[in-house]
Amino acid sequence: MDKLDEMYMTMGISPAVLSYSEKILDGLAERFSKIDRIAEFNQAKVIRAMQKNRVSAACFAGTTGYGHDDVGRDTLEQVYADVFHTEAALVRTQITCGTHALATALSANLLPGDEMLSPVGKPYDTLEEVIGLRNSACSLKEFGISYRQIDLKEDGSFDWDGIRNAINDRTKLVEIQRSKGYAMRPTLSVDQIGELISFIRDIKPDVIVMVDNCYGEFVEEKEPSDVGADMVVGSLIKNPGGGIAPTGGYICGTQECIDRCINRLSAPGLGQDIGASLTVNTQLYQGLFLAPTVVASALKGAIFVASAYEERGFHVVPSAAEDRHDIIQSIELGSPEAMEAFCSGIQGAAPVDSFVTPVAAPMAGYDDLVIMAAGDFVQGSSIELSADGPMREPYAIYYQGGLTFPHAKLGVMLSLQRMAEKGLLSLN
Ligand SMILES: *Cc1c(COP(=O)(O)O)cnc(C)c1O
Repeated sequence: MDKLDEMYMTMGISPAVLSYSEKILDGLAERFSKIDRIAEFNQAKVIRAMQKNRVSAACFAGTTGYGHDDVGRDTLEQVYADVFHTEAALVRTQITCGTHALATALSANLLPGDEMLSPVGKPYDTLEEVIGLRNSACSLKEFGISYRQIDLKEDGSFDWDGIRNAINDRTKLVEIQRSKGYAMRPTLSVDQIGELISFIRDIKPDVIVMVDNCYGEFVEEKEPSDVGADMVVGSLIKNPGGGIAPTGGYICGTQECIDRCINRLSAPGLGQDIGASLTVNTQLYQGLFLAPTVVASALKGAIFVASAYEERGFHVVPSAAEDRHDIIQSIELGSPEAMEAFCSGIQGAAPVDSFVTPVAAPMAGYDDLVIMAAGDFVQGSSIELSADGPMREPYAIYYQGGLTFPHAKLGVMLSLQRMAEKGLLSLN
């Protein structure tokens, strides 16, 4: 037995789980090397953008108060714009999370009387209140902005006729969510998004297309802004923050859209030149620099967990062999006990809070109890290894993140171990 196996055994992993895991991983070498090549491409893309914008130590100094002359903030926004190939970008810790970034982009670019269209079905849960599908003070609905939705077809494809018929005089903005989020629909590839955008532009050339890019950044060599999106929007405690950004969100897009977003985020007329970066510039740069390889680690973990569970007869979405377009993996575990066992494995592998036992609890915005496993350096960061899911049929757990592949591997192995110990999974 080598030193690594000995180490794993001191951490509670049995020889049976070890050898099963190694067998699964042996079959994944080719997939992993493809992921590494994409990461290499995206790493070069990020470095080139930093070089082009002459990032230097001066960029790491922060500002306070109004934040005038914040070279670090201004340069970082230019770096983001270059990475995403857009005219402009807004990258701010004043954007509190992904939902805030999305709400800012929407409310900045929709006016009373306008209509918003989602051609890819129900948007992410937290947007229901932003749009006004669930009543909420200050929703778009309260401001007289209507909403239409065309669901994906049964097989996950676009309902072309439905979309054509839904577009009307008032359609101002189309929101496309790239990741499946916590739904069972497939995640969209950047090519599919491109196809959808050209279809929509043929019908209505001046419509604004916004893509919810959460969990999708750096999974492919292209981003939705490379295939015609006017705005791409996401969270810095997911992929592009690389696990280092302590908070924040980004919107990259056309100058016209971004100018409106900055007025909505702060106040009309204040412009992009204010907003103190305080002490976080270094972390935002360093996080973006690490993001491509962090995303690669998360993807490898997702493929490993999918393969390990699919092989044992569990239904996984996406299936183990499928191409990836985001970092989320769902596994139908079939029972509350299995959800608890899986989560206790993920939690037990964490560098932080490993001594905590995840239990299902009520959560704002959800009807069912929700169980969550996470031992994060940054609170709630889901680019760090984490698993969560609602306690209801089919008892599907959503697995994501992992700043390093060895950590993701440890988490997956410990989940297998806890499942096996409870008799919920057999390794024979
Ligand atoms: C995470 C996520 C969001 C935003 O969530 P926050 O928790 O507010 O950052 C929006 N859309 C999708 C698809 C997401 O995955």
